[in-house]
Amino acid sequence: PVDRSPEVQEARLKLPVLAEEQVIMEAVRENPSIVICGETGSGKTTQVPQFLYEAGYASDGRMIGITEPRRVAAVSMSHRVAKEMNLPTQVVSYQIRYEGNVTSDTKIKFMTDGVLLKEIQKDFLLQKYSAIIIDEAHERSVYTDILIGLLSRIVPLRNKKGMPMKLLIMSATLRVEDFTENQRLFRTPPPVIKVDARQFPVTIHFNKRTPLEDYTGEAFHKTCKIHRMLPPATLQILPCFLSVEEKADGSIPLYVLPLYSLLAPEQQAKVFRPPPPGTRLCIIATNVAETSLTIPGIKYVVDCGRVKKRFYDKVTGVSSFKVTWTSQASANQRAGRAGRTEPGHCYRLYSSAVFGDFTLFSEAEITRRPVEDLVLQMKDLNIEKVVNFPFPTPPSTEALVAAEQLLVSLGALEEPPCTGRLKDMQRAKLSCPITPLGRAMASFPVAPRYAKMLALGKQQDCLPYVIAVVAAMTVREIFEDLDRPARSEDESSKLNQRRARLTQMRRLWAGQGASLLLGDLMIMLGAVGACEFAGCTPRFCENSGLRYKAMVEIRKLRGQLTNAVNAVCPEVGVFVDPKMTPPTEHQVVCLRQIVLAGLGDHLARRAQGEDLVDPKWKNAYKTPLMDEPVFIHPNSALFKTLPEFVVYQEIMETSKMYMRGVSAVEAE
Ligand code: ADP
Ligand code: MG
Repeated sequence: PVDRSPEVQEARLKLPVLAEEQVIMEAVRENPSIVICGETGSGKTTQVPQFLYEAGYASDGRMIGITEPRRVAAVSMSHRVAKEMNLPTQVVSYQIRYEGNVTSDTKIKFMTDGVLLKEIQKDFLLQKYSAIIIDEAHERSVYTDILIGLLSRIVPLRNKKGMPMKLLIMSATLRVEDFTENQRLFRTPPPVIKVDARQFPVTIHFNKRTPLEDYTGEAFHKTCKIHRMLPPATLQILPCFLSVEEKADGSIPLYVLPLYSLLAPEQQAKVFRPPPPGTRLCIIATNVAETSLTIPGIKYVVDCGRVKKRFYDKVTGVSSFKVTWTSQASANQRAGRAGRTEPGHCYRLYSSAVFGDFTLFSEAEITRRPVEDLVLQMKDLNIEKVVNFPFPTPPSTEALVAAEQLLVSLGALEEPPCTGRLKDMQRAKLSCPITPLGRAMASFPVAPRYAKMLALGKQQDCLPYVIAVVAAMTVREIFEDLDRPARSEDESSKLNQRRARLTQMRRLWAGQGASLLLGDLMIMLGAVGACEFAGCTPRFCENSGLRYKAMVEIRKLRGQLTNAVNAVCPEVGVFVDPKMTPPTEHQVVCLRQIVLAGLGDHLARRAQGEDLVDPKWKNAYKTPLMDEPVFIHPNSALFKTLPEFVVYQEIMETSKMYMRGVSAVEAE
């Protein structure tokens, strides 16, 4: 029995999902897999694990597992459920990539979807669990999709072995046909239980015109107007970043809080607390607040209608962040946030005609990004023919072929045979078996290119350096963003000072002599080493232009990678040295070879010959897959050196095509 406080009990009774407890639990008993659809805020995430717990699903020594696509949600939901159930966090726990509080007493475990995928690699039958809940399935995150595919096989296997496991897929939208009507996934379609939303009406106000450029300015004005004219209540702006003056028009002050995933957790937690007395709360959020987190008491939503997404070019792999229109489904989710506790209003900063042109739903992520990491993970699970995998939405054959090719070139998969008929050869290309190196690579929780570097790191005692560089490349964005516009002269001069300081630090970390050629990777190595030496304090990061949250993640990832490397090759006995000395000249040479082995397909050469006639090729580089010039960023360690050959971590398209993470390669 669960001993809940009277307040919690009362709050629970207001949640629509509670009315469906019987129906849900009966469906769980009678079916191996079920789907639950219910609007955001209806109580799925916090209550369904409790239903399972109370029905005894955690009593036979097995756990109830819940996956979330976002770390924020896994952490905050585990705390919330522990609190509601009056149980310690040793029992209702979480595990995310870098940390967790799971114990041998854990009964309910919230985790990111990536964590569960790793667990399947260790134990395909997931014997620790009696039930798995896949939450936020509508988001169609890559790992969620893969997990559903895998679980559609694991659940029947568990049944066959006489230790049944239940699968619950939860979605905030009714669009679940990709799961239910996919014969390859579930031969018998799982029942769909709809939870009626106890949603208050939300009045939608469309703009007459649609600002194309300055939509953040428009959102700011709209917010001020609401604040002036409408009775106090919490306000939410989705999803954009704004700077809102603390006090608008002499009325009560606005208490403005940001909410986005890169934000430090203590800052994130603030949105759940009541604002200071006499203020009105205004939250400026990205799509984190669209479905994963429900903030209590929001009455007004200002929706810019945009979403910032990372796009990949299928052929060149170039990535860019683009702000595009969102989908109708997302816009409706956003509006819904205004009607949780009383009737609300949603101000759409676009016309109804523009809304009509939005796509109905957002695309599944798996169709929009490279899949080499997934293919390697799946091969490691002995799924040789990845094309035949029951994906809810399959990635393109093009993407699968590219992934297998890259993995073959990294030595993670066996070369396909070059003989036989063309058709057989093509088929072989899509079913290359994994090599022992590939297995080792799959055990490192990083992208295959970086995993290859780790696998080679043994030479010349380079491993600690490779681990540090790989951790920094994986965490990304280790430097503070100082390119943001300043809001005042004072801020502008402070920003300039900080930029100058960061430039100075970069120069210091880039080292001298031979290390210079390791370029940006040397800067990363220097930054990680210096930060660790200083004890990884917020102060050090602040003073050196490093992002504290990123540095903490790097620290954790270094620990994790060190353990993973030791597990694969115990004889090397690496450890995380807080006083890592800079690499010797010899080691730098070796590091550059290792980097080349991992990033070999990301090679670029200085433009030469006839290209130079055209001014657009000045200081530019040429890559095999692109006709356009790519460049070394002014912030790069190699901006002035311009070596003939370089390898890069990735190409980002901003004002130009810029290579990031550049390091020089010796011409043969
Ligand atoms: P769903 O998963 O269907 O979107 P949730 O279970 O996340 O719904 O939320 C149910 C209710 O619990 C919401 O009204 C939300 O405001 C409340 N809630 C969730 N987390 C917290 C928290 N940390 N503090 C206070 N209330 C919370
Ligand atoms: Mg939820």
